[in-house]
Amino acid sequence: MKRSHYSIQLSPEMDGQRVTVAGWVYELRDFGGIKFIILRDKYGYIQVVIPKKKVSQETLNCFSKLTKESVISVTGTVQKSEKAKNGWEILPEKIEILSLAETPLPMDVSGKIESEMDTRLDNRVLDLRQDKVRAVFMLRSLFVKGLREAMYERDFVEVHTPKIAAAGAEGGASLFPVQYFDQWAFLTQSPQLYKQMLMASTLDRVFEIGPAFRAEPSDTSRHLSEFTSFDYEMAYITDYNDVMDTLEGIILDTLEFVKKEGKPWLEILERDIEIPKSPFPRLTFEEVKSILEEEGRKVGNDLGTEDEKALGRIMAEKGYIAYFIKDYPEEGKPFYIMENDEKPGYSFAFDLDYYGEELASGGQREHRYDRLVERMKKKGLNSNNFEFYLRAFKYGMPPHGGIGLGLERFVMKALGLKNIRDAVIFPRDQWRLVP
Ligand code: ATP
Ligand code: MG
Repeated sequence: MKRSHYSIQLSPEMDGQRVTVAGWVYELRDFGGIKFIILRDKYGYIQVVIPKKKVSQETLNCFSKLTKESVISVTGTVQKSEKAKNGWEILPEKIEILSLAETPLPMDVSGKIESEMDTRLDNRVLDLRQDKVRAVFMLRSLFVKGLREAMYERDFVEVHTPKIAAAGAEGGASLFPVQYFDQWAFLTQSPQLYKQMLMASTLDRVFEIGPAFRAEPSDTSRHLSEFTSFDYEMAYITDYNDVMDTLEGIILDTLEFVKKEGKPWLEILERDIEIPKSPFPRLTFEEVKSILEEEGRKVGNDLGTEDEKALGRIMAEKGYIAYFIKDYPEEGKPFYIMENDEKPGYSFAFDLDYYGEELASGGQREHRYDRLVERMKKKGLNSNNFEFYLRAFKYGMPPHGGIGLGLERFVMKALGLKNIRDAVIFPRDQWRLVP
């Protein structure tokens, strides 16, 4: 390997040890008799000291050729140094140039000059060399790990369902059609139909972390046309409270995990993870409606972005950053949600709102074949197009429920990012298909 140690693995106690470090040239400083290269690797910075009298001519030649952001590997000895930021530096024996960077760079990566979002996204790999940008994605990786561990702990099975499908679950307008041999298919908007079908399979509890596609023209800071959906579905529930209990536990476990494991990256972001006050309040839609109406807001069948934000402010004043909104009118909810027969017009659907924005939607699903077909008709869907799905409900389907949560929304909100594009490396929206 071109590297024996990362910056994080070196210390003043290693004085005299021969090591090989590698990374990108962050800065070049030339004071004549003494020169420095500041190297950046995944975990931090390394000072390479070049005293003219103590290094080879080859090393000096190498220094003169270097440009910022070039890639080098340096073999040398660790030297204890009080003047160096880390308390140690590297005295090189050999510098190998692995890749020279062109000049000028298309953007500043030192974090000193802020670049436009488009410039950053066009040069995303360079952008990731900024500590704060890299920190977000190191943390995102921990969110995924935390979610996954929370699921395994709860005996969920990880599954992967198809992303090319014959029918959509979340309404026709936002489907991306794909030419599939000699017919049309769609990119799935969510794994909804498939995870529900699996409830009839004895796997009992399944989860998936995978892409979901929505042709959303809405140019917002919280929508992408491709996002990562975290979904689960669980069988044999008594009612939707089982699903909410589970979600609350998963959210708390994941945030605790990231808070603990992500410390160094959170420090770079100058941000801590706030653990939401638990139990999360469970407000009914009608309660939310009257809270908002007191504020002079008129609410229809569903909550709009501004309603959610206003509620978020009210709940934050009471110390709650996460809360459920349950018992939505069935009219605004998809066909697969179970209606509440005791409260006609309402459903067993809920949302989890986090910092005044929707983070997840879930509920108890309709598992009774006849009622499901009835609901499809009510929603104007042709049940013949869903034969593959309905078939799973004919031969023994337990009561079940589940949720879908946007990973990028979770990361964005937990880390206080302003735009969802900051929570995905290569975002896809109406205007962007590359890189
Ligand atoms: P919203 O009303 O915020 O557009 P939705 O109710 O249409 O969301 P759901 O179908 O309930 O979305 O999807 C479940 C979750 O997936 C949402 O709560 C959200 O976190 C996430 N999500 C949905 N659409 C997008 C998108 N276009 N980009 C990023 N995340 C999304
Ligand atoms: Mg929703």
